[in-house]
Formats: sequence, C-alpha cells, structure tokens
Amino acid sequence: MERPSVIRKTAVDLRVPPRWSDYEGERRAFSWDLARRALQGLPQGGLNMGFEAVDRHANSELRAHCALRFVARNLPAVELSYGELARQTNRFANVLQTLGVGKGDRMFVLAGRIPELYVAVLGALKNGTVVTPLFSAFGPEPIATRVKLGSAQLLVTTEALYQRKVKAVRGQIPTLRHVLLVGEGGASTHEPDTLDLQRLMAAASDEFTTVDTLADDPALLHFTSGTTGTPKGALHVHGAVVTHSATGRYALDLHPEDRYWCTADPGWVTGTSYGIIAPLLHGVTSLIDREEFDAERWYALLEQERISVWYTAPTAIRMLMKAGLEPLQRHSYPALRFVASVGEPLNPQAVWWGKEALGLPIHDNWWQTETGGIMIANTPAFDIKPGSMGRPLPGIDAYIVQHLEAEGEPPRVRIVEQPDVEGELALRAGWPSMFRGYLNNEARYQRCFSSGLYLTGDLARIDTDGYFWFVGRADDVIKSAGHLIGPFEVESVLMEHPAVAEAGVIGKPDAIVGEVVKAFVSLKDGFAADEALRMDILAHARKRLGAAVAPKEIAFLPVLPRTRSGKIMRRLLKARELGLPEGDTSTLEAGA
Ligand code: ATP
Ligand code: MG
Repeated sequence: MERPSVIRKTAVDLRVPPRWSDYEGERRAFSWDLARRALQGLPQGGLNMGFEAVDRHANSELRAHCALRFVARNLPAVELSYGELARQTNRFANVLQTLGVGKGDRMFVLAGRIPELYVAVLGALKNGTVVTPLFSAFGPEPIATRVKLGSAQLLVTTEALYQRKVKAVRGQIPTLRHVLLVGEGGASTHEPDTLDLQRLMAAASDEFTTVDTLADDPALLHFTSGTTGTPKGALHVHGAVVTHSATGRYALDLHPEDRYWCTADPGWVTGTSYGIIAPLLHGVTSLIDREEFDAERWYALLEQERISVWYTAPTAIRMLMKAGLEPLQRHSYPALRFVASVGEPLNPQAVWWGKEALGLPIHDNWWQTETGGIMIANTPAFDIKPGSMGRPLPGIDAYIVQHLEAEGEPPRVRIVEQPDVEGELALRAGWPSMFRGYLNNEARYQRCFSSGLYLTGDLARIDTDGYFWFVGRADDVIKSAGHLIGPFEVESVLMEHPAVAEAGVIGKPDAIVGEVVKAFVSLKDGFAADEALRMDILAHARKRLGAAVAPKEIAFLPVLPRTRSGKIMRRLLKARELGLPEGDTSTLEAGA
C-alpha cells in the first residue's frame, strides 16, 4: 500500500490541547534557566531529583493523588499516593542514615518492578546517595561485575534474588557493607549477613529533610545496553531533573490528569528517567506492570487502566504487530491519546501500524544512556515523517559532523552545513542531563567530545525541513563498493514485506566489494521459511533498494539476538556469521 510521506496531526491525535504547538517559537524562547524555574529547588538553593519528583507534590493539592499504581497477574493492585510516597521515601532515607550510608555513597537495587524498588530509588536520591537500578534478569556474574565496578556500599534486593544470584558472588564485592532484603510477600527474612528492609522501615521515622544536593552532585549511575560492546557505566547528576521535566512536557506531552505507562524496566535508563522520575515530576499517575510482555495483557491494560500516554519501544511494537490485529481489536482505547517509542530506530511500518491500528501515530524519539533524557523527538508540535526520529527539542542543538581524520585523538570534526549528508550525530555539550563520566574510564569519556560537541557514535542525516533520520550506529554501518549502507534503511524495506516480523542486517567481508549486505530475518506467525519466500523477499528488497544496497543473502532465524532491553545485536549476528568470539553477552536476552 502506498502511504504518504507525512502524517499530519489530526483532531484525534490532539484530543487534549498539547502543551506546546509552536516549534520554532518555543525553541527561541527556551532556556535551561527557565526550565529550572519550573521546579521548586531546595530551601538552601540546591536541587534534588527525589525532592522534585515526590515532596514538591506531597506538599501540594496532589498529596492524595495516585503517583504509582502497581499491577500484577495474581496480586491485588497497589497504589501509592504522592503523600504516601513521600512518607515511605523518608523512611527509606532514614534507614540509609542509620546505616551510615550518605551523600555520594553508592547503592544498587536489584529487584523486579516492585514498590520497594521505587521507594528505595527515590529515598536514596533524597539522601544524596547515588543509585543504580539493575535489571533483575541478570545472572550472578553481570551483577557482581557491575556492583564491583560501581564500588557499591549497599545493595537492596529481594530474598529470592539474593539466594539465586547474589549470595554466591557476594565475596567478590568487598566494598559492599550492607545488603537489605525484601522478604517474599513482604514477610521478614532471616538470611545471615543481611538486613531486613521491612523491619528497618517500620522502625524508621517518616520525617526527613532532603539532603542538600547541588545540581552538579552525582545522582544516578546507569549502565548502557551493551549493544555494541561491554556495557559502560554513565554517571548522571541531580541537575538532570531539569531535562526530565522539560522533556516530559515536550516529548511526552504529560498533563497532570494523565494516566501514563512506560513499559521499560528501571534497570535501563528509560525505566528510571521516564518510568520513575519524569512522570512524577508532572504529577501524573504512572502504571507499573510487574509482568513480562504479553500482547493480550498489554492491550487489556491499555484499556482497563485507561492509559492516556504510552511510552514503549520498537521491539515491543514489532511483537504487537507480529501478534496480528485480532488481540488488539478485542479491546478499545478511548483514553489513549499519545504514543511514543525509544531504544532503536522505529521503522515507518511501525509508525503506520500505530496510525492504522490504534488511530494514533507512534512518536519515535532518540536518546542514549549518556544523554540522560530525550534529545530528538517527534512531538505534538509538528507533523510526523514516518522513519524520522523527529527534531531536536528546545534547549538541544544537534548537528551532523564529519571527522577530519580517521583516528584523531582528540577527534577533530567539522559541522556539515548542507542537508541530506550522512555523518555522525553530535550535540552541543552542556544540557543538564549530559553524563559526567564513564565509570573508571576518563579517557573514553574525553574521546566523546570535540570542540564543545558531544559525539554520539550514531550516524544520521538532516533533511531540508530539519528532520533527523537515523542511518545506523557507526559500528554497524556497512561499506560496500564505495557506498556506506545504513542497516536501518535496509531493515525497514525488509519489514515492508508482509512475511517479515524483524530484520537485522550486517556487512559480510567480501574480497571484491569490501562488504556485502547480509540480512537475518524472522517471520510473522503463519509464514514458512522456504526458498520461494527467500527469493520473494530478495526480489522485494532489490526492487526497493537497487542491487547495490539490497541484501545479497537472507537467512531465516526464529528470533534475532537481542539485548534484554530489546535491541537487535548486530555485532552478535556478525560474530556468529564469521565464527568470531561473541564478546560481552551479559545483556543478551535468554534464548537468543
Ligand atoms: P552500548 O552503548 O553499550 O553499545 P546502547 O548504545 O544500545 O549500548 P543505550 O544507551 O541504551 O545503549 O542506547 C542508545 C542507543 O540506542 C543510541 O545510541 C542509538 O544507537 C539507539 N537508539 C535509541 N533510540 C533510537 C531511535 N529512536 N532511533 C534510532 N536509534 C535509537
Ligand atoms: Mg551506546
């Protein structure tokens, strides 16, 4: 089906007046100082992420308003109001004080999406303690490596996870002074050398004065997804809360009456920045589903929980598309008004699926663990060009740069002024949520900057209307017969084929042209992986891309290797194809 290249905003999309509509005007009027003034700040002039997210509202008319709503398959829903969240986070901060864990100390949290995790993260932030949430599906080794790398003093986890994953490796982490356990079903635990969180919380006061942190004080340590190599620890400061607040407005269009669902786990930066902090900053009710992905369940939740703003990821959208329209049509979504996605490029097919199946286009946005918040986005303020990641948000200046020499150190780059030229995506350094270091790797951090620009490691281009188009990660780009081929373009074309559910594309060394394009494809339910289908997909790709760019080979896989945060790991497809070592696979999804 031929579809237009632009999705114009319609009355349906803008059912509620958006929080902004004049892109150029808002960018001109914007300053980070002004954005900072939308927050309260601490009485002594400091800034604290936990205070802004929780206490600011707990002392307002939002006190009794539901902040977090936890749902699970076999448990009753649990709700925490802003007032209750303030009391519980105060208790937790007091527990840390009692244990002598203070400002600048490091705490890791390893748990499923349970209320205690959210209370611990926010309470620690109020205490000035630097927090790292870890994904609970990690095995013992990735856990030990990260906790060790982070020199954590304290770990909060559940009794079951402790027994299965931490106990055996605890001896490897000498800095770890305390382990706080959440007992099963809230019961007390009796593991030796651990403390019972429940009991400590009960004994603590629910009054606490937020520790006086400054905007430049460290707040969060997040590990990257490990898509391109060993995960890096990126350090973020309390001032990042200014970005979270501004982007919650510009990129997610949060209104206080919204019921919002971010499907990311807090073990990844999205699940913290936009699964915990940003929604609370805007006083919304946030849904937290404790279960794993399930198409039928997700549609039911969207309907029953009356979700109005939904922030999810391409991998989830592709899985929903794969499941077909039948489960979607079993429900209706009158409350839903804004859908956004992050994590990987969002194929035009997926944007259109939103428009055609849900009645709402999906707003792709781009950012990284390092940027701490959304930088480039499709927003309510302008039309969508499916396949484009949108335009830089107010306060963000983004460019395409080219390197002046291949391996310079520090790198030397020049900004490309003409449109439609591919190059590395770079951001003017200095936005509030910019990372302030890679853990134990200052040299690598320095290599990310040149002439006041942060170099993202992603390739993109800007069209004549100022829309940004993702080309691929610098590491994934394919060089074939003098062309640079971005995997995203090839994958998006493969996904147009009715049988294709997912595609990952790599460059395979070739004596004549340098590299040839090889595609790995998984199929939608109901299609058989046979020679006729392979030829049909190849023919489709050749027709759309031309022989120079289309894949020369297509292999069928039941699933593509993905990180646990859902990103296709092209480096693994390549290593397996070439029989090379697989490298760090600590974030690889099980069974892939
Ligand atoms: P690592 O740095 O360890 O290899 P990672 O880069 O996948 O892992 P994250 O910080 O979680 O870790 O992901 C950021 C990256 O994800 C971006 O640099 C980009 O390559 C990709 N990405 C995120 N959102 C988008 C998007 N909307 N379009 C295209 N790519 C995106
Ligand atoms: Mg990265």
